[in-house]
Amino acid sequence: MASRLGAPGARLHSRRGRADESLSPEHDAVAEDRAGRVNGSRADAAGEKVWARQESSGLTPGTLYVVGTPIGNLEDITLRALRVLREADVVAAEDTRHTRALLTHYGINRPLVSYREQNRASSAPLLLARLDTGSVALVSDAGMPAIADPGAALIADVIARGGRVEVVPGPNAALAALVCSGLPPAPFLFAGFLSRQRGDRRRQLQALATRPETLVFYEAPHRVVETLTDLLAVLGDRPAAACRELTKLHEEVRRAPLSVLLERFTATAPRGEFVLVVEGGGRGVNPAGSEGTLSDDDVDRLLMEAMERGERMRVVVADLAARSGRSRRDVYARWQALRHDEESLTPTPSPVRGRGGGGEGRGAPLASS
Ligand code: SAM
Repeated sequence: MASRLGAPGARLHSRRGRADESLSPEHDAVAEDRAGRVNGSRADAAGEKVWARQESSGLTPGTLYVVGTPIGNLEDITLRALRVLREADVVAAEDTRHTRALLTHYGINRPLVSYREQNRASSAPLLLARLDTGSVALVSDAGMPAIADPGAALIADVIARGGRVEVVPGPNAALAALVCSGLPPAPFLFAGFLSRQRGDRRRQLQALATRPETLVFYEAPHRVVETLTDLLAVLGDRPAAACRELTKLHEEVRRAPLSVLLERFTATAPRGEFVLVVEGGGRGVNPAGSEGTLSDDDVDRLLMEAMERGERMRVVVADLAARSGRSRRDVYARWQALRHDEESLTPTPSPVRGRGGGGEGRGAPLASS
């Protein structure tokens, strides 16, 4: 440290060099932050002292820095994140091209190493070896690494080897959605992505149905409608929020009961990135399956919507029977009546009329009309 600071003249030179670099408020704040980190207090650091202390800072060798990056808006990155990315010996990135673009935007040029699910086995040893002498910054494509993103295994590996892990917190889609949903922010339960398999997904939801926490889900746009369908079927018509494209140009937060969100996104195909936030159980909405959750009109409306989406009759009938407390035979009778009404209003013969294997009727347990 002493040799880096050198004689007063050298320090002055170094200081001037820093001052020249400090062309933006961002640089000034970075400098101040460094001093703050090293000294534990920013308020008392002033003038010469600050710069000298700044010179003695830097990243700690052997430390994995877990760095949050924007979830859409490039302004959403902390000064500390930029400094760590600028000073790390290597940046471990989920997609190196994506991260290169981010770093370039901020004028940062550091070596990048790919670290993702598919190459974890080969990449982790390289990064762990790098940590023997240097520092590694870990980022993902967006938000906090390890949150529905690669990173958790590397973090665990570093800890298991007695290494240091330091977090540089940044944006996170789940928390952003939770706070702007207007639903109780605590307690909450982050469920991440549900299974893509409907059966597994419904089982996962069954396990969450009685949880009192506000539930937070990630979902891809092309699965939003089927996930909302399952949320409604298993959890009941709870207050919810669909948070889309947060921090981006087309940011949108729709706060409505699940049935209304389902209606909306059935009518207009969902686009962009989504977080679905759903009120926890036991806050006033009857859980799915309890008697009287749905009126006859509700059941008919949901049946019609399911028909229009071409959903399988057997699945829809089973769901609505469970949700409404009615027998399957009763719900099936309503389905048939609606189907009959719909067909009698259709001028040309419907392709499902002959039951030759058409969509909704497939696998019908009861005789068709
Ligand atoms: N690590 C990220 C984080 O901390 O939020 C999450 C990465 S995960 C692979 C990507 C998912 O996060 C998306 O499918 C979407 O559900 C959610 N997400 C990411 N960015 C979002 C945004 N700007 N608006 C809404 N949801 C977003």
